[in-house]
This record gives sequence, C-alpha cells and structure tokens, in this order.
Amino acid sequence: MSHALLNASGASRWLNCPPSARLEQDFPDSTSEAAAEGTLAHALGELKLQKYFTPMSKMTFTKRHNKIKADPLYTKEMEDYTDEYLDYIKETALRYPSQPTITIEKKVDFSSYAPEGFGTADCILISGDTLHIIDLKYGKGVPVSAEKNPQMRLYALGALKEYDFIYAIKSVQMVIFQPRLDNISVDAMEAETLLNWGNAFVKPLAQQAFKGEGEFIPGDHCRFCRAKAVCRARSVTNTALEDFKGKLPPLLSNEEVGDLLLKAQDLAKWAEDLKEHALKMCLAGETVPGWKAVEGRSNRCFTDVDAAFKELTTKGLAKEEVLYIRKPITLTETETLLGKKEFNTALSEFVVKPPGKPALAKATDKREPLTLKNDAKTDFANTQV
Ligand code: SF4
Repeated sequence: MSHALLNASGASRWLNCPPSARLEQDFPDSTSEAAAEGTLAHALGELKLQKYFTPMSKMTFTKRHNKIKADPLYTKEMEDYTDEYLDYIKETALRYPSQPTITIEKKVDFSSYAPEGFGTADCILISGDTLHIIDLKYGKGVPVSAEKNPQMRLYALGALKEYDFIYAIKSVQMVIFQPRLDNISVDAMEAETLLNWGNAFVKPLAQQAFKGEGEFIPGDHCRFCRAKAVCRARSVTNTALEDFKGKLPPLLSNEEVGDLLLKAQDLAKWAEDLKEHALKMCLAGETVPGWKAVEGRSNRCFTDVDAAFKELTTKGLAKEEVLYIRKPITLTETETLLGKKEFNTALSEFVVKPPGKPALAKATDKREPLTLKNDAKTDFANTQV
C-alpha cells in the first residue's frame, strides 16, 4: 500500500515538526530487515485473525500459511508471538457482553483532520458504545507506549469517522500489543475528547505540514526523519553545544550535566547519520570536502573451513578435537529454535533473570529509579562496627 504524506506512523514527527513532511519527500524511503520481518508477522497475525473470526476454508488457510512459512524471515517464534496476538484479541472480544463487530487490517481515512491522511488499523472491535483499536508491533527495540500516541489516535479518528454513523461510540480504547517485549500498553479516552484533539490540535498542524510550512523543531522524533542527516535545524541545535564554551566556571552543575547529556545523545546519533550520509555521497561520486570512501578493513578467512581442516587432519598436522570448539547456543537462540511456548514449558525452571547493571536512562523512562545510596550507607555502617 502506498503511504500518505501525512501518515499515521509518522505523526509524532510531522506534528512536532510540520515542515518535515515535505522535506522528507526528497529522500528515498529505505527499508530494513526488521521492517520486512514486521510485515511478515503482520501477515501471519492477520491470517490467524481471519481464520478465527471470519469464514475461511482449511485449504485456503494452509495455502496462505505455507506461503508465509516459506519466507526466509519466518521463525517458530513468530508463530508463537502471533498466537499470543490472536489470544489477546480473542480474550478482548470475550470480555464484551455480546460478540463485538471485528474488522481486521482496515484502511482508515483520517483526511478530515490531516489532508489525504490514511493508515491501516490492525484490528478494530466495536461493541455497545466502545471502540477498541489494537495495533501489533513486532519490534523488540524499545517498548512503544499507547499513551498519547498520535498514530493510535489518528487510527481511532479514522475508525470513528467510518463507524460513527452506525454505532453511538462514546469511549475509545487504544492498545499496543508488542509481544516480543511483553508490552501491552493501553490508553483510553472519551470519543468527544479525541474529536477535540483532532480538530483543535491535529488540524492546524496538519495543514501546515501539508503545505510544507511551519517551524522546523528538532527533537526525539528526528530519528524517524529521512532528512535527519542533513537537516539544518537539527545541525543548528546540535552545534549549539558550542554555546557552553567559556560560559561557566570550572565545574559543571548536575543540572548542566543533565542538559548536556540530553544534547550529547542526539549529537552522537547525528554524527552517525552524517557519516552514513557522507559515505553514500562519496560512493555516488560526489565530493564531501575532507572525506572519501575507502575499502574497510577486513580479516582473512577460509574459503571452506571444513575442507581446510580436513587437509590438516589428513596430513596428521592437527587432530579434529582441537580444531572445533563445542559451545552452547544462547538462550535467545534456543527460544527462537523452540518457539516461546515450548521453550517455557521445557526450560522455565532453568531460566533466571539476574538484576541488570546500573545504567543511566532518561527521566521519562518507565523503569523505577535505582539508587545504591542506602546499600552503600549500610555497607559503610557495617564496616564501622
Ligand atoms: S530532522 Fe528533525 S528538525 Fe529536521 S526536518 Fe526532520 S524532524 Fe524536523
């Protein structure tokens, strides 16, 4: 499916930085293996929902299932995660007093709020006065929150427009189901509040975005922007680190450390984006003063390791036992091999999760803050005794 200029998945970017929508158009849309994996998992999830909630012959299901299984990105783990997705939707449907109306992979049109805007909602359930939107996220990088999530809200606005004339919807539930991170995030709001958000907040910004107007405002959302490497506004924000030079006394305060770290985080990401962009330009034959593309370092390797070792054993130069190391596969690899259900059944008693090493995170991170102050005090007190 083609993408709208103001698509729901990019909403956090174009709502925060309206002119990015048009600026991005000059850059090619790149795709990744993770995105292809997500698309395949969605196809599998959709197939399972269709089989369960709509009439589908066994033959049709098997044919479509086999096609998905033939994809090199298919894993047993994907089968289990999409089963969890199906189970969650079945449970959600059962919680309603009567069978809800269920729509799967529905194109929703939210163009009344954002010009030409549309997207695809993974699953919509409607019962009584409640609209439920569930979005499957197959990524395992960071947990995605449904709270104040503009993508989910735009889907919900599209769904309200589609179904409001049949159902008197008063309440909207938005769920992000992210099985690989055990993340089920829910947000709820009154339909009226959602409509107000669409009219008062989205509409004016979407108008600006569609016309390529408004202010370039860098932020976290830049990481999803195709212009992120060479965007001037982002460059100005990052190079503003210079402002700190000579401005303050010898030691930084905690406030300054916090502020600088926030800036430095994006500065590091931006430097990587710049490098990637400059390499692309150099490889395309363009000049980036001070830089060139070269062949990276590489290590020697055997053309055929088994044949090479056979040569050694045949000639009596080494024994096979010293040439091969037997080592266990990792826990994650074992889980991928068995699938989550079988892994848990067979091995849960052998699995522990030790506490993680203290790490620095943004104040907005959902984890509980950690302090070693009390333990350190106790240790200190103990040594005194
Ligand atoms: S990189 Fe950031 S500031 Fe620049 S256009 Fe994209 S979203 Fe806006």
